[in-house]
Amino acid sequence: MGEVTLELPKGVSFDAFKQTDRICPNCNSKGLSLFYTVADIPVHSCLLMSSKEEAQKYPTSDLQLGFCQVCGFISNVRFDSGLHNYNSTYEETQGFSACFNTFANSLAQRMIDKYDIHNKTILEIGCGKGEFLALMCQLGSNKGIGIDPAYVPERNPDTRSQIEFIQDFYSQKYSHLEADVICCRHTLEHIAPTLEFMQMIRQTITDRPDTLIFFDLPDVMRVLQEGAFWDIYYEHCSYFTAGSLAGLFDISGFNLDDLYLDYDDQYLIVTAYPSRSSTGLDGDSDNNVDKSHLAVNEFRQKCSRKIDYWLRTIRRLTQDGQKTVIWGSGSKAVAFLTTLKLNDEIEYLVDINPYRHGKFIPGTGHEIVAPKFLKQYKPQKIIVMNPVYCNEIQQELDDLNVKAELFAV
Ligand SMILES: [Zn+2]
Repeated sequence: MGEVTLELPKGVSFDAFKQTDRICPNCNSKGLSLFYTVADIPVHSCLLMSSKEEAQKYPTSDLQLGFCQVCGFISNVRFDSGLHNYNSTYEETQGFSACFNTFANSLAQRMIDKYDIHNKTILEIGCGKGEFLALMCQLGSNKGIGIDPAYVPERNPDTRSQIEFIQDFYSQKYSHLEADVICCRHTLEHIAPTLEFMQMIRQTITDRPDTLIFFDLPDVMRVLQEGAFWDIYYEHCSYFTAGSLAGLFDISGFNLDDLYLDYDDQYLIVTAYPSRSSTGLDGDSDNNVDKSHLAVNEFRQKCSRKIDYWLRTIRRLTQDGQKTVIWGSGSKAVAFLTTLKLNDEIEYLVDINPYRHGKFIPGTGHEIVAPKFLKQYKPQKIIVMNPVYCNEIQQELDDLNVKAELFAV
């Protein structure tokens, strides 16, 4: 089947061109190839609003992805970190999901067993509400230091003897905090100057070569190969393949210990130690960059088909008078709705996190409801924003005696 021209929502474009003067923030090489634009999307997707009006008036900006042909890194070239405001109303936690907790538990236990992390000090950069750090401390009798501007002290009353929380961004001013393990999960993708950030971390541990570094972040290869437009949003300014992540660690002065995919192959897990000296390798190996390049080239077709599919499906359901809700109200749901420019076709988003109920998502201003609301609303279809949760959701629906058909993105 040849390439067909599909209808694209307003603001979405796959126009490709090269910005020859643009510097890659991941390897400092010159020249990025732009390949995907989504205009006018909310700058935050995890902050919650108390009214629909406030949510719809939330500041927006543009996303334009550029690919570095030297290291394979992808970044939003329109990103402005000054537009961001990470504070304690930031509601990112996935800790209400049993499925997510099983993953977090097994990851924590695996790390503790493999690297013998017992009676150690763990520093977590971007610890969120502190659940993972608390788990690491509990499972290995460790002490923790958690740093995050969106930390909420009231959420973890039981951990105060084991963990010190600092409500701030990590920076050089915290280099005096000595730790055996530095952990950073779901944070690097929110940071634009990735090379500068990793070099800063490397500098803070100059004299401690045994410090274990452990990062966990989304893999963009899957996003590109699936055309998963709901995984591309303003908060994420940096998108890594295994290769571009390995290259970054290498040039910022770390030796990789392990690098693999986890969580149904959605996340990259990397462990490393400071290297004595940089190997001076310039970014990623050619093979990896070629693979990424191919995936970027195929993204246009994959993604435009996905967009077309969801627009048609949701419009058809609306015409047939079928009520559809989205399960999940985090960044993926915000990106799904704002990319497709959907509004009245879907009335509600469902979430199991009670801190989200009765709030409104930035951009489209959809209201978030609890699963039990579906008993009265009686939707016919539910779009699930992450297929890994389908079993958990089906169980919940069965318990509520709600008969609706699940569709995973
Ligand atoms: Zn690069």
